[in-house]
Amino acid sequence: MSLLDLLQTTPAAFIGLCTILGLLVGSFLNVVIHRLPKMLELGWQQQCAELRGEAPPEQERYNLLVPRSACPHCHHPISALENIPVLSYLVLRGKCRGCGTAISPRYPVIEAVSGILCGFAASHFGFGMSSAGAILLVWALLALTAIDFDTQLLPDNITLPLIWAGMIFNLSGTYTTLHDALLGAVFGYLSLWIVYWLFKLATGKEGMGYGDFKLLAALGAWLGWQMLPLIIVLSSLVGAVVGITLIIAVRQGRDIPIPFGPYLAGGGLIALFWGHTLTQSYLQLFAQ
Ligand SMILES: [Zn+2]
Repeated sequence: MSLLDLLQTTPAAFIGLCTILGLLVGSFLNVVIHRLPKMLELGWQQQCAELRGEAPPEQERYNLLVPRSACPHCHHPISALENIPVLSYLVLRGKCRGCGTAISPRYPVIEAVSGILCGFAASHFGFGMSSAGAILLVWALLALTAIDFDTQLLPDNITLPLIWAGMIFNLSGTYTTLHDALLGAVFGYLSLWIVYWLFKLATGKEGMGYGDFKLLAALGAWLGWQMLPLIIVLSSLVGAVVGITLIIAVRQGRDIPIPFGPYLAGGGLIALFWGHTLTQSYLQLFAQ
């Protein structure tokens, strides 16, 4: 029996493999979340210098692969053994081996969430394209959520390829027809664009960013235009609950921007796994 046969016939093996893959890529996602915003900022600084006709600022090479990961405190390089998802954090008891500074628990949390969601996607969709796509979408949404949370940015480097990826997966109708995927991308973008301008004309403030339009366009491209109302309702619900809790608990001012991306991503994930079930049971309410 080949490995492919084994994965196809033994769900436990497929789920296990996807979970391990999720944990490993989760570790890479931490690098993306940490470095992509800095890479963008360095690029913008360079462009600004060019526009002003100055020499670009001297910079060491900085991308997703270079330099090697190191403790930000003592610059102790992180070896492969110290980089095993979740396990290393537990063995090191959350402290750098070089200087003993606490490591943010966010690293193992992202790895664990990635592992769990990938395993869940594998068990939900089974062996095939739907699982492969769902796992890719999970990774992109995880990275976007954390980056938006940190910087209130949803980088085009992730949102735009995600729109294309959704279309490509639906070329053969993995989640919806190509027709519905295309309309999903268009309506996803336009719906938030309209809300943005209505809100801006009414209040003079910006309620959300262009990244949010592109993220909803991507979710529309993956799941089809029919899922857009559900995604918006779900993300507004989660957003309202979290927002009200923050205002009450932290007394955070209502004017402080709360990123909308994480809620869109959460709504999108729920729609990916249970969208059809949710819309069907909702429609049944009116069918009686
Ligand atoms: Zn250290």
